[in-house]
Amino acid sequence: ELVLGIESSCDETAAALVTGDRKIIAQRIASQDEHHAPYGGVVPEIAARAHAERLAPMIEGVLKDAAVGLSDCDAIAATAGPGLIGGVMVGLVSAKALAMASDKPLIAINHLEGHALSPRLADPTLDFPYTLLLVSGGHCQILLVEGVGRYRRLATTIDDALGEAFDKTAKILGLGFPGGPAVERLAREGDGSAVPLPRPLAGSKEPHFSFAGLKSAVLRAFQSGNYAPQDIAASFQQAAIDCVTDRLRFALMQHGTTPTLVVAGGVASNAAIRAALEDLAESYAMRFTAPPPKLCTDNAAMIAWAGCERLGQSDPLDFVARPRWPLDPEAEPARGAGV
Ligand code: ATP
Ligand code: MG
Ligand code: FE
Repeated sequence: ELVLGIESSCDETAAALVTGDRKIIAQRIASQDEHHAPYGGVVPEIAARAHAERLAPMIEGVLKDAAVGLSDCDAIAATAGPGLIGGVMVGLVSAKALAMASDKPLIAINHLEGHALSPRLADPTLDFPYTLLLVSGGHCQILLVEGVGRYRRLATTIDDALGEAFDKTAKILGLGFPGGPAVERLAREGDGSAVPLPRPLAGSKEPHFSFAGLKSAVLRAFQSGNYAPQDIAASFQQAAIDCVTDRLRFALMQHGTTPTLVVAGGVASNAAIRAALEDLAESYAMRFTAPPPKLCTDNAAMIAWAGCERLGQSDPLDFVARPRWPLDPEAEPARGAGV
């Protein structure tokens, strides 16, 4: 079994070929960081244009790398949302054209499902159900992953995503874009207890996350001139870790444990967060697993793998790209905020 995967929902243009027995036989990825860096964030129109320029040669490239043709593929899987709609449309329309030309099934993938199932690509022993912390640029959720397409959202953020908080902290500290890796690097040189910062919603009896107040406190600490940047970075990261572990403890207390605790999404590439989650899992007698960092940030292998997990399914060629697409459609809005 072989699936071609396409990802274009944010600022990574990517294509990959993945087999049903978890081999990534080819993958290419082009980041647009230098396009967006001058603006301090992803500009949707610039992103869509860059995807449109790069995607077709990239797909041709991965097929060449693996020395296979579309006729060797069992399906074409593409991110169909959620994300920046112009970019999503570029990837989805390309996938439709390839599916039509090769008479192969199209599989429309939820980008969040790509993140949610990516740990199973990396770890063949990971079975359902598992407790997942999904932390990325646009999302911060705790999910009970019961099976493919079966996700129960236990918690979400009422304001910013965790990756967004890292990016805003980086911006405050003048570390540029994207911010997560830069904050992590600087934090290694700092003291995580040097700057008093809040742990929003820690100890709360509602299950959700909040990071807006933390970001504002980082801004005030920076503007006070009383703290070194590396101490602010380290203290921010420590506060983020404390929030995440507190909210996970609450979720595990409310819903019980599963055999495995899992983290995925771009922020899951953070080594300090991974270490803290590993400790947390151990204290609950849970196994811990996380994909390698390259499978945490946006990539097409996770989309191809989600296609492998859904092989046999086929979506219509008029499938419409979705700017919003919650993994758990039954989840209540958190205080009327994000899904
Ligand atoms: P979503 O998946 O919610 O649509 P996205 O696709 O933009 O959002 P990802 O590519 O999954 O997000 O993750 C990008 C985010 O991860 C950015 O906010 C980035 O700062 C953050 N990130 C990446 N590496 C690290 C790191 N080492 N430490 C902390 N954050 C990181
Ligand atoms: Mg990116
Ligand atoms: Fe993502």
